[in-house]
Amino acid sequence: MALGRARRKVLILDSGVPCNRQTPHSHNFLTQDGRTPAEIATLARQQVERYPSVEFRKGVAVSGGRLGDGFSIATLDGGQLKARKLIFATGIRDVFPDLPGLAECWGISVLHCPYCHGYEIRDETTGVLGNGDYALEFTTLVSNWTSNLTVFTNGIPLLSPEQIALIRRNNIRMEEKQIARLEHVAGRIQRVVFHDGSHQVVNALYTRVPFEQHCTIPDSLGCQRDEQGYYITDATKRTSEPGIFAAGDNSSPLRTVAQAVAAGTTAGMMVNKELTSEEFNSIKTTSNHEGSCL
Ligand SMILES: Cc1cc2nc3c(=O)[nH]c(=O)nc-3n(C[C@H](O)[C@H](O)[C@H](O)COP(=O)(O)OP(=O)(O)OC[C@H]3O[C@@H](n4cnc5c(N)ncnc54)[C@H](O)[C@@H]3O)c2cc1C
Repeated sequence: MALGRARRKVLILDSGVPCNRQTPHSHNFLTQDGRTPAEIATLARQQVERYPSVEFRKGVAVSGGRLGDGFSIATLDGGQLKARKLIFATGIRDVFPDLPGLAECWGISVLHCPYCHGYEIRDETTGVLGNGDYALEFTTLVSNWTSNLTVFTNGIPLLSPEQIALIRRNNIRMEEKQIARLEHVAGRIQRVVFHDGSHQVVNALYTRVPFEQHCTIPDSLGCQRDEQGYYITDATKRTSEPGIFAAGDNSSPLRTVAQAVAAGTTAGMMVNKELTSEEFNSIKTTSNHEGSCL
């Protein structure tokens, strides 16, 4: 939107598989609380399409290279696009562990973030699936929304005796049995089933799963990542490579729509600032008097 309002020619190339597509309702984004992700995306698109210099295109970018002062992008359908600047708002892809039921419940009853979904399942019988320091950290956070909580370590707990004692002092149960599957009805988790055939009833489960970059073209263009795998950006959303910007989940662990929208707005404003500055400074003086004010 920032680029459209700056009257910049923008092509938005989108393969159309956002990470939150399975979640029934999106929360914690001011003015859009409780809408479906598709409704929010449709409204955003309608508002941006009012600016005539912006074009949406469905497609997949498959590779990129430098071309003169700008860039070229090849698309899956054989197209070649040219741009002076690139913004990658390409998100991340969750990599699900081999646990039957988890992928089907993702975003519905198996959740990554209590700020996005915790209010709706407050006080419910809830689990945290995780082990080690991260399990304690996540459990501490989730305890704000429910005290009816079990930590599923899915094997021998990798927590110190002090950490386990702290969890128990908060009346939180710990279960270390190996999990065989998550039983669910249309993505709504019913039971955690263990390899020994026993089970535990839960209505919701929090966990974090590994991720990979949805699009790795920035790597091939030289953009650096941090140790977690996010593209490194400065406060203006510039990556380590001149002319290339990144916004949203691909460059931040604060995985929320509001954060992605804010980052995209910043990137748009900064791309326009760079372009305007380049154009302004490339004006050549042709005569001593040109442009002077008499
Ligand atoms: C299950 C789940 C539930 C969530 N619930 C909430 C919630 O309730 N509230 C909240 O604030 N946040 C929520 N989030 C987080 C939120 O969805 C993300 O922070 C946000 O969608 C990030 O936006 P993004 O544009 O960076 O990435 P995405 O929304 O993932 O969009 C990336 C887009 O880039 C496209 N793309 C990728 N590679 C290419 C390519 N090579 N060529 C063309 N297109 C490409 C993809 O198809 C996709 O459309 C949730 C996340 C998940 C996983």
